[in-house]
Amino acid sequence: MKNAVHLVGEPTLPEVKMHLIPPTAPAHGTVVSNGLCMKGKSASFVRHVCIDVSGTEMAGNFRSGQSFGVLPPGLDAFGKPEKVRLYSIASPTWGEDGHGRVLATTPKRLISERSPQRKSDPLSDHRLFLGVCSNYLCDLQPGDSVSFSGPAGKRFVLPEDPSQHDFLFLATGTGIAPFRGMAMELLQGPPADSPWRADWKKCTSRIELVMGSPYTTDLLYDDLFKELSLHHSNFHYHPVISRELRNDGGKGEYTHQFLERRLGDHYDSMLRNPRTLIYICGLAGMQMGLFRILGEKGLGTGYLTVDEVIADVPPREWTEEHLKRRVRPTHRCMIEVY
Ligand code: FAD
Ligand code: NAP
Repeated sequence: MKNAVHLVGEPTLPEVKMHLIPPTAPAHGTVVSNGLCMKGKSASFVRHVCIDVSGTEMAGNFRSGQSFGVLPPGLDAFGKPEKVRLYSIASPTWGEDGHGRVLATTPKRLISERSPQRKSDPLSDHRLFLGVCSNYLCDLQPGDSVSFSGPAGKRFVLPEDPSQHDFLFLATGTGIAPFRGMAMELLQGPPADSPWRADWKKCTSRIELVMGSPYTTDLLYDDLFKELSLHHSNFHYHPVISRELRNDGGKGEYTHQFLERRLGDHYDSMLRNPRTLIYICGLAGMQMGLFRILGEKGLGTGYLTVDEVIADVPPREWTEEHLKRRVRPTHRCMIEVY
């Protein structure tokens, strides 16, 4: 039984399929396309990779917001098969093709200098570090086979009836992936020949997408979001750049700082409205700044529960430890960070 006790504004989430394909018995898909998806020339490489999953349990059985697993070939440093890595599905529920047979994802190459991960790691080791699976995925060519598992995740999905809610989507970097699928699902709809077409209704609720990137050139799917905001007056797209000056001459900022700056003229009433759901995806820790602001401005009701232990601590004095252990998101605040 789901949602036996239903609080004001709490979303009813759809039943979703999960773990139809386990990593121990992966299915095989075929890469359909693989192209860069940043706005401009950047030091990072992020790709939009489309994979045909026809004939597998995954076909027609995933939802926007869910993830799937990729099993890179080869053995790890201990001689064991490489473990599965999760990637967000960047497609709407009907996939890239309208029939749920082709899904897209948004891998970013992990390219770095080595840095200590454990106390025992030497500080002096700064050789090149290449992530296994992200680079494997980004290297794939159309026609290549890829082993996968999934789908995974049941909380980070759109509610059964989106018209009952307004949406605040907060992304950093590749955390934008699920919001591509969700925005297409809410606003664009499936193609005419799609089995999802008959039941689809355009969502007229307010949808705010706040996307955090280091530089303008790092923005992902920027053309799509601009296009959607041009054609749908209920959709608002806000790129937030951390390492460049703003148009008004102000300093670069993070997503929560943007929200705080625009609370008065834009977000205060939205956040106080029980219709609103917050979805956060991207860098681990990006939710902390938002939680502090919600607490400080008296906007946490409905999105946060605060442990009695810190009931007397003013939100501006919440420590990292408090935020990690004592402040919890409610069902109106969906978080997918790592
Ligand atoms: P790995 O080979 O696994 O290396 C990463 C590991 O190496 C880290 O765990 C860390 O322990 C260590 N490490 C990292 N940096 C260094 C360094 N500089 N020096 C030494 N060691 C280091 N990623 C995306 O790009 N797009 C997505 O849409 C996406 N969606 C995700 C959805 C979910 C639900 C989750 C949990 C993760 C998602 N990820 C996504 C992340 C993805 O799963 C991988 O973690 C990421 O691609 C890195 O994997 P890799 O195999 O390339 O790196
Ligand atoms: P990126 O391009 O480097 O962008 C991250 C942006 O967030 C930068 O502007 C960064 O600013 C800013 N930032 C840093 N700390 C922040 C904070 N505390 N609060 C708000 N913003 C902050 O990002 P990326 O390399 O793609 O990384 C995105 C992360 O999302 C990765 O960790 C990835 O694994 C994760 N991800 C998660 C999921 C999921 O869980 N489903 C899906 C996809 C991606 P500065 O760099 O200027 O400080």
